[in-house]
Amino acid sequence: MDAFHYKNGQLFCENVPVQKLAERLGTPLYVYSQSHFVNQVEAIQRAFAEVSPIVCYSVKANACLGLLRAMARIGCGFDAVSKGEIYRALRAGADPKTIVFAGVGKRDDEIDYALEKGILMFNVESESELSAISRVAAKRGVEAPIALRLNPDVDPRTHKHISTGKRESKFGIDIERAKACFKRIRELKNLRLKGLHLHIGSQITENDRHAEAIAKILPFIGEVKQADFPLEYLNVGGGYGISYKGNEGLDITSFAQKMLPHIKETGLRMVCEPGRYVCGNGGVLLTRVIFDKPSGDKNFLIVDAGMNDLIRPAIYDAYHKIWPVVSEFQPDAEITGDSGQTYDVVGPICESTDVFAKGRRLPRCNEGETLAIFSAGAYGMAMASTYNQHPRPAEVIVHGDKFWVARERETIEDLTRGERLTPKEVFSAEDLK
Ligand SMILES: *Cc1c(COP(=O)(O)O)cnc(C)c1O
Repeated sequence: MDAFHYKNGQLFCENVPVQKLAERLGTPLYVYSQSHFVNQVEAIQRAFAEVSPIVCYSVKANACLGLLRAMARIGCGFDAVSKGEIYRALRAGADPKTIVFAGVGKRDDEIDYALEKGILMFNVESESELSAISRVAAKRGVEAPIALRLNPDVDPRTHKHISTGKRESKFGIDIERAKACFKRIRELKNLRLKGLHLHIGSQITENDRHAEAIAKILPFIGEVKQADFPLEYLNVGGGYGISYKGNEGLDITSFAQKMLPHIKETGLRMVCEPGRYVCGNGGVLLTRVIFDKPSGDKNFLIVDAGMNDLIRPAIYDAYHKIWPVVSEFQPDAEITGDSGQTYDVVGPICESTDVFAKGRRLPRCNEGETLAIFSAGAYGMAMASTYNQHPRPAEVIVHGDKFWVARERETIEDLTRGERLTPKEVFSAEDLK
């Protein structure tokens, strides 16, 4: 059964009616199904069992500590893109030996922190980064385990803002340059090349894109091995697409079938970095209708969540299903006549891109009613801001018929923390000399 489903006209997350959560804890509110997160990780572990995958959940998609902990407990590893994410994964109980560290701009202090904690590998994105890691590792007197992130020049056929594996992207190293990197790796001390890494984009729904990327680097992997580097891992990245509208999501079994022959051919142990696939459909954002505002030819539903809480529609023009939490109709049911209305669902933020849905046919909604914005588990709270001085929402984790507040709602007092009305001490330009 889906983590979120309607029963007798009410939306449930697992066995908890979400309307009651909205009443108890207020809105906007993120609600997550713990089972969904765990089940998705296990589905990947199963689909790729033949190559004993190390599944490294991509922390940036949803960094909620309570959920990270649930994942760490089933042996899930983590893909981090900053010191802050490594810290979070460790706080959640992750084994450092299951953490990979990616990102095009790693600072020395971040590299040093990762070395101190003893992570599995750095995913290296440039020649300059090789030098930086070597320098910091030498200072610590340790050897840094690295993987080279290759840019295979494959079109992931997804939204251009979330495509990363084409030649013109800032991510990864093209194959020609990668060959030069080997020379660098040999010259530089304190580096141990343990793997190769690919990540070609996000929300990829065609099941052969990753397989094509791996196929493309197979000859290269042969060369690396011949050059006597002790390769152990092939990190195939993340980007597995989910369903936002209906059934456009990736089928993990056929996806794995396409990739497995290539991975087996390399003889390497597979690492992967799913983010959205694990969490996207494991969360909803609950919001209340503040005003019903007919204006011009339109009907605006002004809700209490805004682009500051969920920015995907504003920046990617992303589609999110929206439906009243209490409704006699199933989501997407055709609503004819007076029981329905065509709405623009918009937030309270002073920006014209603060829109969740345009021209959407919904059951007629009343002021005060709660709506669910679906598929909000990935890149929702993780990208939330306090723009317009709106405190960020609370986060609730549901597990069976139990729920708990995994993150308190921010307060307006929180938003001024760290600021001063008047100087504590005044300096002059002279002091900088
Ligand atoms: C963002 C990212 C991921 C996760 O992407 P999803 O589309 O959420 O699966 C994995 N690996 C790297 C290097 C990333 O930057």
